[in-house]
Amino acid sequence: MPYCLYLRKSRADFEAEQQGMGETLARHETALRALALQCGYTISKTYREIQSGETIAARPQMQCLLADVAKGLWEGVLVMEVERLARGDTMDQGLLLHTFQQTSTKIITPYKTYDPNNPFDEEYFEFGLFMSRREYKTINRRMQQGRRASVQEGKYIGSIAPYGYIRQKLLHEKGYTLAIEPTESEIVRMIYEWYAFGIPQPDGSIKNAGRPAIAKHLIQLGIPTRKGGMWATSSITRILQNPVYCGKVFWTPQKQTAQNTKLLLDGKHTALVSETLWQMVQEKIAANGVPPAPRALQNPLAGLIRCAYCNHTMQRRPYQKSGQPPFCICVTPHCPQVAAPLELIEDKLLAALQIWCKDHKPYWEEIANTLRMRAPCSDFSLALRSKKAEYTRLQTQIQNAYDLLEQGIYTPAVFTQRQSLLQEKLQIVSDEIETLSSSCQSTTQTPYMLPQESIWEIYPHLPPAQKNLLLKNLIQYVLYEKTSSGRWHHSPDAFTLTIFPKISNTF
Ligand SMILES: [Zn+2]
Repeated sequence: MPYCLYLRKSRADFEAEQQGMGETLARHETALRALALQCGYTISKTYREIQSGETIAARPQMQCLLADVAKGLWEGVLVMEVERLARGDTMDQGLLLHTFQQTSTKIITPYKTYDPNNPFDEEYFEFGLFMSRREYKTINRRMQQGRRASVQEGKYIGSIAPYGYIRQKLLHEKGYTLAIEPTESEIVRMIYEWYAFGIPQPDGSIKNAGRPAIAKHLIQLGIPTRKGGMWATSSITRILQNPVYCGKVFWTPQKQTAQNTKLLLDGKHTALVSETLWQMVQEKIAANGVPPAPRALQNPLAGLIRCAYCNHTMQRRPYQKSGQPPFCICVTPHCPQVAAPLELIEDKLLAALQIWCKDHKPYWEEIANTLRMRAPCSDFSLALRSKKAEYTRLQTQIQNAYDLLEQGIYTPAVFTQRQSLLQEKLQIVSDEIETLSSSCQSTTQTPYMLPQESIWEIYPHLPPAQKNLLLKNLIQYVLYEKTSSGRWHHSPDAFTLTIFPKISNTF
């Protein structure tokens, strides 16, 4: 059986490269190929991880490798150090060990060959990973301390400037602060004033306004969001609750302890609203917004159906009083989209997926494999976790784009293009995180196994949260369009679904 190479840079490698140590992956590849030649191993594939993601979810090549290892494709994987495979997360390490063990795949480093099914080696293996986790923790703690110190100096540590500001490099010192964006900052001030005092009406009166009314009003005024989209209630809430607008910077520790508490300090940047106004707004929000009680996910299509007109995620709307079935609706104010019964959309989608899976059998088998691999922990937290990792990864990419611009590698034009693309993705992911965490906080954690062939027979019996997880393994999203009106009686199923399957980015 053939062997493969897995190459990945560590944080230390990035530093060494900057000091002119040469390209790490190329050096490692040469070393490992020499090793293979010496031992007579045939190398059939090389996985090159470009990003330095900390979790498996943030490392696309690692996911490929794991999927292939699970299929028993490799006799062994050649890697510079065991630590290159997993770091940081106990669950990731468990998954890794389990996958390698199940197919008896060896891990070969220049110093030692690890056989996961040899009990003695297993100890070694776990020990090696444990070391890397400790090292990771040290690095992470150092980074956190750095961020904390920056906040204590009043610097802005986020990688994206909040609406109303531009991120600005500090002169003669490390770090960033915020400069006022003239147009956006005016809108932020208006939002705060409208929420606190009401929206002035054409007849001179003032009308009390909640967050949805403010979003609606901004749309009516033709004011777009930063990305040119329409305002949502959640964006208004985010703006109203962000202390950055009254001049603060903050830092939240990953783990709160007596010594390590949340910091909220005066920033170097100029406030857009007074502290008094900010405080007033917080009190009004606290009085109005009772947070919804966590409940199990009810929408099997949660986060999957996007409106073809405004590209926002469509939502499930129950009609308990009238006894009508739940609909799938677009909640964007003034969007021309016509709603349809959720169940009809689900049925059509399933029918299409079944045909599609038949046509893509090898790919489908890969998915089924992954599902079984994930089965012990397939609940919503997994989907949420991977989304959060993706969010972090995108933030890093945005940060990198800034660095590349500073180093003169990106031209301003390339940077702007890259930047807006990444911001757009970040928004999508952040919306998905919101959908996931708001509607699936108390999903039952029953583990389930999925037999490869009868997945469609099982589907109807799954709880909505698991239906949703299954669908999310197959598709990125579905674009929904319905033009003919007549919501209840005429042609309820006269809609078009455009399915975007998940192919390249998972495997
Ligand atoms: Zn819409």
